[in-house]
Amino acid sequence: MFEQARDYPDSYYAASSREAQQRRPALEGEREVDVAIVGAGFTGLYTALNLAEAGHSVAIVESSRVGWGASGRNGGQIILGFSCDMPPFEAALGLDGAREVWRLVREAAAEIRRRIAEQAIDCDLAGGHLWTSVLPRRVQLLTDWQEEAARKWGYDALRFIGRDELRGHIESDRYQAALLDPEGGHLHPLKYVLGLAHAAESLGVRIYEDSKAVRYVERPDGVTVETAQGRLHAHKLVLACNAYVDRLAPALQARVLPVGTYIIATEPLSAERARALLPSNRAVTDNQFILDYFRLSADRRLLFGGKCTYTGRTPRNLAEGMRRDMLKVFPQLADLRIAHCWGGHIDITLPRTPDFGRAGPVYWAQGFSGHGIVPTCVAGRVLAEAIRGDETHLALFTALRNPPFPGGETVGALLQVLGMSWYRLRDYF
Ligand SMILES: Cc1cc2nc3c(=O)[nH]c(=O)nc-3n(C[C@H](O)[C@H](O)[C@H](O)COP(=O)(O)OP(=O)(O)OC[C@H]3O[C@@H](n4cnc5c(N)ncnc54)[C@H](O)[C@@H]3O)c2cc1C
Repeated sequence: MFEQARDYPDSYYAASSREAQQRRPALEGEREVDVAIVGAGFTGLYTALNLAEAGHSVAIVESSRVGWGASGRNGGQIILGFSCDMPPFEAALGLDGAREVWRLVREAAAEIRRRIAEQAIDCDLAGGHLWTSVLPRRVQLLTDWQEEAARKWGYDALRFIGRDELRGHIESDRYQAALLDPEGGHLHPLKYVLGLAHAAESLGVRIYEDSKAVRYVERPDGVTVETAQGRLHAHKLVLACNAYVDRLAPALQARVLPVGTYIIATEPLSAERARALLPSNRAVTDNQFILDYFRLSADRRLLFGGKCTYTGRTPRNLAEGMRRDMLKVFPQLADLRIAHCWGGHIDITLPRTPDFGRAGPVYWAQGFSGHGIVPTCVAGRVLAEAIRGDETHLALFTALRNPPFPGGETVGALLQVLGMSWYRLRDYF
């Protein structure tokens, strides 16, 4: 069970976001709305925004703070697609169904850019994502995806970048090649999620912080959500709890395993040094099983993420371990101080496919398995459409099967450790 802190982790994001100082009140007493949402991360907020735009009354209860979970502490990398890539969708839905999923993905990436522009959300948005290969034999994964994206999904924007040209994007010898996706990019996730919250509030959505949903009860005409000091009565309920769903919904919890992943932020680099390090200012992810991801912040820090843990415990000497990983990519940064180090939990499913669904008046979206910025935007649209009576897109996701982890969280974690150890070896040999 998770102990949720009352405030944001000590991340670069919390330190660089003025809005994070403003606390919202807790839910007290009884309230009635059309739709109640548990969790004020991207999933909950996108769902709320779409519903409020369609004229529904919505309230969100959040255990801690807006964006306290993964949404306010992630790598900020805007990456098109789901963590499982397209094969599970094609297997479950055929080509036409999978094409519709890819269309939703691209529309979500466009929706993010639109919302930032329309709401003037100041969140350091920058364009372009580079998917790199460390191992020569995995360069083919890049070319295969470029070919498949164009042929099957009608996406021909990806550009292959060979080793020599790549030095013009990343000042490192580690990478063999990359694919540049111009529709990806990066942003400051805490500023962005707080911007979404303001946009939702401007449409009348009520957001209650410090309001953990301890249980919900279904009634003939809807659902009641209970917190320590209040109750929300609604026709429909959305669970947008990510890895923290815990005892609120044991059946959902059984299908996701919380996995820790970590980020460091260096002290700011000089303008000249930052330009030399990542001249095109793209977000970068590699195609190792245990992947590294990095980018520059607006104030020219290197934000470097990676590692994963299954035990719920923070690794010992975390900042030093992360620094060593960073120096494998950029040995020239050995003189830089690490200013911040933090982590968070992603919600992986056994097949890494997203887990969206409905049971009676209760809807959910979880299982983003590490890629969430674009997929949560898809989820918000799909859930809002379903709540409004159109389940066409929800059916694309309920066709996927996410079994519970065998033996629950403990055995599931052990199996994942074994599995990932095998994959980690394959990152070397
Ligand atoms: C360190 C890290 C780096 C990542 N990097 C990237 C990246 O670069 N790119 C990318 O695409 N994705 C990344 N991800 C994944 C992405 O951040 C998530 O998939 C996404 O933010 C999930 O959004 P969410 O709204 O579903 O969950 P969350 O943002 O975790 O929100 C869930 C919220 O629900 C609340 N909650 C839970 N239970 C209750 C309850 N009972 N009552 C009230 N509130 C409750 C929690 O407090 C939390 O705020 C990363 C994740 C982590 C942890």
